[in-house]
Amino acid sequence: MLVRQTVLTEAEGDCVGVERPDGKSPVLLICEHASNRIPIRFGDLGLSEEALSSHIAWDPGALAVAQGISAALDATLIHQRFSRLIYDCNRPPESPGAMPEMSEIYAVPGNQGLSDEEKTARTEAIYIPFHQRIRSIIGERSARGQDSVIMTMHSFTPVYNGKPRLVELGILHDTDDRLANRMLEAAADAPLYRTERNEPYGPTDGVTHTLRLHGLENGLRNVMIEVRNDLIGDKVGQGVVADYLTGLLQKSLEA
Ligand SMILES: [Zn+2]
Repeated sequence: MLVRQTVLTEAEGDCVGVERPDGKSPVLLICEHASNRIPIRFGDLGLSEEALSSHIAWDPGALAVAQGISAALDATLIHQRFSRLIYDCNRPPESPGAMPEMSEIYAVPGNQGLSDEEKTARTEAIYIPFHQRIRSIIGERSARGQDSVIMTMHSFTPVYNGKPRLVELGILHDTDDRLANRMLEAAADAPLYRTERNEPYGPTDGVTHTLRLHGLENGLRNVMIEVRNDLIGDKVGQGVVADYLTGLLQKSLEA
């Protein structure tokens, strides 16, 4: 008889990390792909160390950049503590990308042919608590009269399916482009990176799930940032990008 195992052990703790919970900035930072940690129960998912340290498991550098912005602005930061290969919190449960069988060039053996029971267990352990926590933090802020402006922080690989990507900084939005437009204007005034709107992904790729859930549904200004990960591979690069994005945000929120 199969015994349903839990996704996370007690020792692995809460799947949601929150930094600066009392941050005074209106900016609320969210990092869904912050970590490549795989819960013990899943071993290595049948993947090599190389694959598990690559962009398929997480967004390298994204958390460090978000932490830099959080420190500079005194902004609350919410991040997922486990790999997107277990559950990708920027995808709804019905999306094939939520628990991907294939990611770019890698098949993920531990995700092949998952039962409905297994999918439900992962959804309940990783996805639901993550978005519930965001919802409750937005609710608490609004109850105490603090605005929330949502920025999700991501990174992307310089070469995807063999094709190099020239864009360095992507400023992404769904149907609410208020904040993205401001940030694009601010970037054009102080160009440092090759910056594009809705690149290397856009809303038609399904990447605006978190923005839709928490920004669009609440009428809150929101934006998704994608940084090419070769620019944020070390502390120096992470610091420069964090400073630059902090400046764009400040300028965008001023008027
Ligand atoms: Zn990402």
